[in-house]
Amino acid sequence: EAYLKRIDSTDGDLNAFITVTADQARTQAAAADERRASGQAGPLTGVPIAHKDIFCTQGVRTSCGSKILDNFTAPYESTVTHKLQDAGMVMLGKTNLDEFAMGSSTESSFYGPTRNPWNTEVIPGGSSGGSAAAVASGQAPVATGTDTGGSIRQPAALCNLTGLKPTYGRVSRWGMIAYGSSLDQGGPIARTAEDAALLLNSMAGFDHKDSTSKDIAVPDYTADLDKPLDGLRIGLPKEYFGEGLNSDIAARVQAGVQELEKLGATVKEISLPRTRLSIPAYYIIAPAEASTNLSRFDGVRFGYRCENPTDLLDMYTRTRAEGFGEEVKRRIMVGTYALSAGYYDAYYNKAQQLRRLIKDDFQNAFAEVDVIAGPTTPSPAWKLGAKSNDPVAMYLEDIYTLSVNLAGLPGMSVPCGQVDGLPVGLQLIGNYFAEAQLLNVAHQYQ
Ligand code: GLN
Repeated sequence: EAYLKRIDSTDGDLNAFITVTADQARTQAAAADERRASGQAGPLTGVPIAHKDIFCTQGVRTSCGSKILDNFTAPYESTVTHKLQDAGMVMLGKTNLDEFAMGSSTESSFYGPTRNPWNTEVIPGGSSGGSAAAVASGQAPVATGTDTGGSIRQPAALCNLTGLKPTYGRVSRWGMIAYGSSLDQGGPIARTAEDAALLLNSMAGFDHKDSTSKDIAVPDYTADLDKPLDGLRIGLPKEYFGEGLNSDIAARVQAGVQELEKLGATVKEISLPRTRLSIPAYYIIAPAEASTNLSRFDGVRFGYRCENPTDLLDMYTRTRAEGFGEEVKRRIMVGTYALSAGYYDAYYNKAQQLRRLIKDDFQNAFAEVDVIAGPTTPSPAWKLGAKSNDPVAMYLEDIYTLSVNLAGLPGMSVPCGQVDGLPVGLQLIGNYFAEAQLLNVAHQYQ
């Protein structure tokens, strides 16, 4: 009830939620109480949670921030939300996001922008900005997000939260509306590494409904939290501290790294030479995958359909012209172009080759260090609207997060102080399936 009240009193300003499921939350909370009374409770039983509105939730509108799904009520539950429900969590509602998770600011939502609780003049980051704003403002203790190129880590950084993007394949994508299927991964947004570990315990695991999910045992992610950091080898990529990084963020991150040294870690400079190529590679591959994933929104089976279509082609074209927003259309155009017969080799294949080289850079680095540290973002949160008409300026903000998805690695952002009164994040990148180690480092740091 306290969280519902908080949503009521603050969401007029923040617009973190697209849908609040108050009645359902009360029913789930009552069931959690019963479960607790009968001694069946786990650590998450009865804990409220907000879900990014990209996870299908049975019987509840699942809009993905788009007009084309404004009337869509999912007929089934995503694996992630299902598992958290099984753990006894109470869903408060569905949070705002950039349309189809395409963006870094939560401004491209059909439902209007979300505002940053630290300063409502600035963006909360994106695309999981609604989830981050909800947790940062006390509307929810924890939330889910998804990260295709930074959408968990970047809003966590800009809202002073802890966000974890797991290794590709660690968390099932089933029922999570697809953006870039080879990059998408769901994960927790929380205040602390400990909360994130508790959520990941329930979210992770093999799912036969997702052919890319990995059949690797899920450890207890809370088990290593208290391990000392003695002997931990941290690498600082020199490319993450060069031109383009706000100098105050650089100072905050350096101070954070010094803290880790005091805790027993050793630090050395490393190189990820292909970092700057992650933006062109990602902004070909993600739109290419998006252009095919979004072909299912045709007005035939579900979602928005234009009025009075004259024939099938008119229905397809007008449904999509009216239903998708500008950024989504831009991605579909870019992706379709990059995949077209005459340009496939020049763009899509080339981007896939870069992707492999970016992955190799990380493998070379992990031969020398255990964890890579650096900034999550090059700048603090910007004013609403400041980059809305300049997509490339927005894409450049993703420079430190994209390569982690291209390589399929786990990445985390932890709060690392403020610049001009706005929070910034320290990013920690681990080797495949090293989530427990990242959570350990983050917990010791916090
Ligand atoms: N900003 C990136 C994009 O627009 C990443 C978004 C995401 O991780 N979903 O594609």
